[in-house]
Amino acid sequence: MNRRSFLKSSIVGAAAVAVAPTELVFGKSKRKEPQLRISFQEGIAPGKTLAEKFDWMEAHGVTGFEPGGHKLWERVDEYKRLLNGRNIAVSAICAGFEGFILAEDAAVKRSFDESMRRIVAAAGELGSVGVIMVPAFNGQKPCKPHTLETREFLVEELAKLGDYAAEHGTTVILEPLNRREAFYLRQVGDAAAIARDTGSRGVMCMGDFWHMSEEVCDYGALWSGGDYLNHIHIASRGNRVMPGEDGAADDYRKGFRALREMNYRGFVSFECGSKGDREQTVPAALKLIRDQWAG
Ligand code: MG
Repeated sequence: MNRRSFLKSSIVGAAAVAVAPTELVFGKSKRKEPQLRISFQEGIAPGKTLAEKFDWMEAHGVTGFEPGGHKLWERVDEYKRLLNGRNIAVSAICAGFEGFILAEDAAVKRSFDESMRRIVAAAGELGSVGVIMVPAFNGQKPCKPHTLETREFLVEELAKLGDYAAEHGTTVILEPLNRREAFYLRQVGDAAAIARDTGSRGVMCMGDFWHMSEEVCDYGALWSGGDYLNHIHIASRGNRVMPGEDGAADDYRKGFRALREMNYRGFVSFECGSKGDREQTVPAALKLIRDQWAG
């Protein structure tokens, strides 16, 4: 066999090996079925160090990691090193910026713009789906009033920020919260409409099962995010602890059905505490949501 025919047969052989398992075992339609991709914030997994937590996550099929955004740019190298060779990707980045986008005070707004852009650039380096943000918490004052003009201002500012994020291969993700934390933005559909109105492909939205007590229906709420929905937070539904620790209230099946039907490809990320020992409560929560995803 000469070199050319050897290469040719090797390539054909490699291609056959690469394609055969998925095609033969799952078939074409099965491959399109969205999978439940689970992510953890840093405090969720048992373990003293981040490396121990990643070991635990890998052993339990958790493939996403959601770090906080505070000074993220200083930790890019550390995260890259710790995740190298693992089956774990950075999912979203949880906030961590200074100031807020609807600040009346120009210095506070500037502080948001500068810190948020540094986090967004670092998020892009880490291959993150996006940086989560809230336009204004109730306690953040002085804040622009809740008026039509403020919404137009928000859309214009987010358009610029979204374009910057898109240049860095990532997004900014609007997170609606319950009224006690952030009256300004409470529902998934409203966040999606703001994202749409920016006209920027770098502005997206998310749903948080705990905050979604604002919504009449999980199924309708997640569908209202449409193509703008690129991240999900999950916690128990009464006390924001591990899914399952609030008993029968922790029913995510209608929301999961919406995500499956929407062909949702993002992560479902744990953002919660734990009443019990994490060695027991975290595996129990994983089993619960995997069972409920399966329907
Ligand atoms: Mg959340």
